[in-house]
Amino acid sequence: MTRDRPIYFDHNATTPCDPHVLESMLPFFTEQYGNAASVGHRLGREAEKAVSDARRQVAALIGASPGEIIWTSGATEANNLAIKGVMAAGQPKGRKHIVTQATEHKAVLDPIQRLAREGFSITVLPVDHHGKVNLEQFRISLRQDTALVSIMWANNETGTVQDIAGLVSAAKAVVPSVVFHCDATQAAGKLPEVDVSVGIDLMSLTAHKLYGPKGCGALYVRRTRPSVSIRSLIDGGGHEKGLRSGTLNVPGIVGFGKACELAGQCVVNERERVSRLRDRLWLLLSSQLDGIHLNGPSDARLPNTLSVAFDGASAESMMMACDDICFSAGSACTIASIEPSHVLRAMGFSESRCFSSLRFSLGRSNSAVHVDYAAERLITVVRSLRSLREV
Ligand SMILES: *Cc1c(COP(=O)(O)O)cnc(C)c1O
Repeated sequence: MTRDRPIYFDHNATTPCDPHVLESMLPFFTEQYGNAASVGHRLGREAEKAVSDARRQVAALIGASPGEIIWTSGATEANNLAIKGVMAAGQPKGRKHIVTQATEHKAVLDPIQRLAREGFSITVLPVDHHGKVNLEQFRISLRQDTALVSIMWANNETGTVQDIAGLVSAAKAVVPSVVFHCDATQAAGKLPEVDVSVGIDLMSLTAHKLYGPKGCGALYVRRTRPSVSIRSLIDGGGHEKGLRSGTLNVPGIVGFGKACELAGQCVVNERERVSRLRDRLWLLLSSQLDGIHLNGPSDARLPNTLSVAFDGASAESMMMACDDICFSAGSACTIASIEPSHVLRAMGFSESRCFSSLRFSLGRSNSAVHVDYAAERLITVVRSLRSLREV
């Protein structure tokens, strides 16, 4: 039996646009097409009003003020703006040290690697076998010349949730003026506690991971107690307080705002619902297959994410055999390369465990029917792959 529509278990790669989000966007393509910077006329002012409403909606999801939201093309750009922007702003007393950790997304690690080549000093902290940063190790990595810390709220591959509040307070206790950047792309809309008030200075978000459109994201930049200085990467018309020039993507921004409003309304219920489905999937797999292992902690984890290693079955074969189920092997962003996932490697897993690991990331459209179907398919596939290996 195969299905017309595949079952989608890849919500950490991207989510479908919510129909209410799409509906909110449509007028801004056709009738309300004004440029939000052209406030000299009515259409421009209407676009500007829609953008400021969205600014309020996005800010509200993370406990920020609307004036602290800078629109970007997504989380990759937000991470680049945060990291390169802080270091380019010029550090008092020549502070040139950055602290990050090994399981960050490439959109954090690669900009930091570039800065390393340009002469900045970098510490990449290791993680334990659950993917967590050790607080004591973090504390001793900080130096008087540490300008920036960049640690994600939750990991895209394993769902591991860091103790962000603990890390922020440890950082500020050692170096009070340090800038704390957090890539909260996976956590926003999944965990109700995501909030900049824990002391975060810069936070990256993207619309397409929370049922908004692709190509629209934001960087939160703290404006008070104290305000954070960053320098722009893109210069031009001086949009977004000079931090990100270019005509605003009004339909995308409106959709992002609506997506954040909806996420705020359903995050508590959805966390419960989706974690029950995720746990049901794990229970079905682990009760009927031996030689399977959970990658990541059982507790401090995103409610929708399940990363599993299957002894004696490669991720590639499992994906090929289950072509009516969408899940991923490691991170979709690096799937073009045949490198094992840097996240699973950093957690201390062997290459072969990495290559036999699958990530299931559930979401709003999934039901118990999907879970039961997928579990049955996978169990059959894994058993037959294992029996092939034995002959
Ligand atoms: C998806 C993702 C990104 C990249 O976001 P884009 O909007 O696609 O550029 C960055 N960080 C994390 C943790 C992600 O999951």
